[in-house]
Amino acid sequence: MPAVDPWIGPRGSAAQRLLQILRAHGPITRPEAARLTGMSLGGIRPLVAALIEDGQLVEQPANRRPDQGRGRPGNVLVPTLPDGVVVGLDFGHAHLSVAVADLLGEHLVHERCEVDVDRRSDDALDTAAELVRSLLRRSRRRASSVRRVVAGVPGPVDRAGRMRSSTIVPSWWQLSIADEIAARLRVDPAAVDIENDAHLGAIGEHRVGAAVGCSDLVYVKASHGLGTGLILAGQLYRGANGLTGEIGHAVVEAEGTLCRCGSRGCLETVVSIERVRQQIRFVSGSVEVDPLLAAEEHPAARRIVLEAGRTLGRALADVCNLLNPERIVLGGELAGAGQALVDGVAESIRRYAQPAIGETVVVLASLGERAQVVGATALAAARAREALWSVG
Ligand SMILES: [Zn+2]
Repeated sequence: MPAVDPWIGPRGSAAQRLLQILRAHGPITRPEAARLTGMSLGGIRPLVAALIEDGQLVEQPANRRPDQGRGRPGNVLVPTLPDGVVVGLDFGHAHLSVAVADLLGEHLVHERCEVDVDRRSDDALDTAAELVRSLLRRSRRRASSVRRVVAGVPGPVDRAGRMRSSTIVPSWWQLSIADEIAARLRVDPAAVDIENDAHLGAIGEHRVGAAVGCSDLVYVKASHGLGTGLILAGQLYRGANGLTGEIGHAVVEAEGTLCRCGSRGCLETVVSIERVRQQIRFVSGSVEVDPLLAAEEHPAARRIVLEAGRTLGRALADVCNLLNPERIVLGGELAGAGQALVDGVAESIRRYAQPAIGETVVVLASLGERAQVVGATALAAARAREALWSVG
């Protein structure tokens, strides 16, 4: 190792402090950098110049962020990245998304395919490994350049990366998922993290989606299952064992339909995507590929989605009372039904949460089906940077 790590620079200097702030916050503007360092714009100017001269920083046009209004987005300061890439994997119940990204989490290439994840874990893992290899070739990166892998799975996984339900995604039960992925990609198992898919959706929407700038939010993934990801005080909240967010198994009908978790009347048996689609087909006689698309125009279809939103909102009202989030972001396939879902959820929160908390903003997710893989690469990139830059 060199005497002075090129990514750390001389210790204790004001430039070093500015660099650490940039590395922690990602691309930020000069005024933001001044605010975060507590210095004036004039004060940071020579530090920025020195770091750019030293090759540790670049200044480039910003990508427009959703929280910015009209007008030019301006320039941002970006710490120079070491070589290497990260891989994000998103295993849904019936699909797989893979992305290769740089160490800021920006996607270089990505791909999505249909695969029976629930019943054929081996096939899904083999397909994932093939896709990663193909994407690395397409982005002209070597397999050895992968610094971190994060994989999302659609079920409760503990901090050790093991599926904690034998029935929700049956073929993944007791599998050491990180070891399986590491062996196929020939990477260190310690560089592979497994995370619940709704948790990754929360990170994705928080980073570049409908919740940029929110420090406290609840992301809801309503697809074949129903889970939530919690960002509290700017950080993903995992609980004691990594198992937070399983709101889909809150019992809403004591004698209701049998759920795949073994209980009866769970929220996800009432607000499941299959059930909502089936009900819309029944009332609208729609032959559309996805009957959810009828929800905006067909009054009866809208009523069904509104009702599903109200039921979901009833459970989320308790979450609001407990956690006081700034925003609730509705994602997953059910969010394809649009504004009626938002209206139903917001109505129940106003009705059942404490009056002051009833003002919680409810919005649709903006990343759609990409939220999970964006969250996976963002988390992988953050961990890769942490490992690289905490050295010294
Ligand atoms: Zn259940």
